Amino acid sequence: MIKKFLVAQSREEALNAKRSHDKSVFYAGGTEINRLKSTVQAEVAIDLSKLGLNKIEEKGDELIIGSMATLQTIATSSAVPSWLKEAALFCGSFTRRNMATIGGNFALMHGRSYIGPVLLASRATLLIATISDKGKYFEDEVPVREYHEHIANYQGVLILGFRIRKSGRFVGTLRFAVSSQNRAAVTVGFGAEKDSSKVRVYAAVYSVGMLRLKETENKIEKGEITTEEGLAKSVAAEVTVKSDYTGSGEYKRYIAGEGVAMLYGEFLKGGRR
Ligand SMILES: Cc1cc2nc3c(=O)[nH]c(=O)nc-3n(C[C@H](O)[C@H](O)[C@H](O)COP(=O)(O)OP(=O)(O)OC[C@H]3O[C@@H](n4cnc5c(N)ncnc54)[C@H](O)[C@@H]3O)c2cc1C
Repeated sequence: MIKKFLVAQSREEALNAKRSHDKSVFYAGGTEINRLKSTVQAEVAIDLSKLGLNKIEEKGDELIIGSMATLQTIATSSAVPSWLKEAALFCGSFTRRNMATIGGNFALMHGRSYIGPVLLASRATLLIATISDKGKYFEDEVPVREYHEHIANYQGVLILGFRIRKSGRFVGTLRFAVSSQNRAAVTVGFGAEKDSSKVRVYAAVYSVGMLRLKETENKIEKGEITTEEGLAKSVAAEVTVKSDYTGSGEYKRYIAGEGVAMLYGEFLKGGRR
C-alpha cells in the first residue's frame, strides 16, 4: 500500500528517490499500482508526471514516444502507426486508457500485456536513464528485446521512451479474450522485414508471461516455414501454456498458433501496414 507520494521534478531526482527508498516504485498512470490485488507492492510512489515524458515526436521516419504518453493519446495520434494504435485499443476501458501509460504497460511485461508483444515484434528501442552508485546520471538506448531478455538487470531503470521506425517493416498484433474488458488468454505480436529477415515472434500468455518464440523465428528466416499452416504448427509446438480461467492450455496453444499464422498470412500478402 502506498504511504508516501513523491513528485519528482527531474529525471535525476526520480532515480535518486528510487535508489534511496526501499519498497518504492515509479508512478506513471497508477492503474496497476492502485489495482485491487495489484502485482506491484510498494510503500513509496515516485510520480513521473512533471518530467515532460508524455510527448510523441516525429523525426523523419522515426517516432519517439515518451514513456508517459497514455494509451488514449497513442490510440488517437495521427503520427502513430496503426499496429501500435490497435495495441493501445486492446485496453477496452476509455477511463483506464486515459490514465495508463505505454511505459507502465511495457515495464510490467505481463502475460496479459496489451502492447508488449507488438513493441517487441517491432524491434523498437528503449530510451532509459539510470544512476550509478556514485550518483552519476546516465542515459542509454537498448533494444526492447534486450530489456525483455534481461529484465532483472533493468530493475530501477527509468524508461524515458521508445524509438519506433514507422515504415518498411511489417508489424502486427492480435489479442484473444472473451471481451475487450476481460483478461486476454493470449496476445501475439509478429514482425518481419520485407525479405523475411529480422523476424520477431512474441506471445503474452496469461499465467505464463511474455515469451519470445525463437525457434519459429529461425525457421522463417531459414525458409523452413513458408505457409500459415506450417507457422501455426511451429508456434503451437513452441509456446509454453498453462490452463486457467482465461482458457485451457490446449486452447492457448491453438489460438497462439492461429493468431501468429493470421499475421503471417497478412505479411505474405504484402501486409496492410
Ligand atoms: C481493471 C483492470 C484491468 C487491467 N487489465 C490489464 C490487461 O488486461 N493487460 C494489461 O497489460 N494491463 C492491465 N491492467 C493494468 C494496467 O492498467 C496497465 O498495464 C497499464 O498500462 C499500466 O500503466 P500505468 O501507467 O498505469 O502503470 P503504473 O500502474 O503507474 O505502473 C506499473 C508498473 O510500471 C512501472 N513503471 C511505470 N512507468 C515506468 C517508467 N517510465 N519506467 C520504469 N518503470 C515504470 C511502475 O513502477 C510499476 O511497477 C489492468 C488494470 C486494471 C485496474
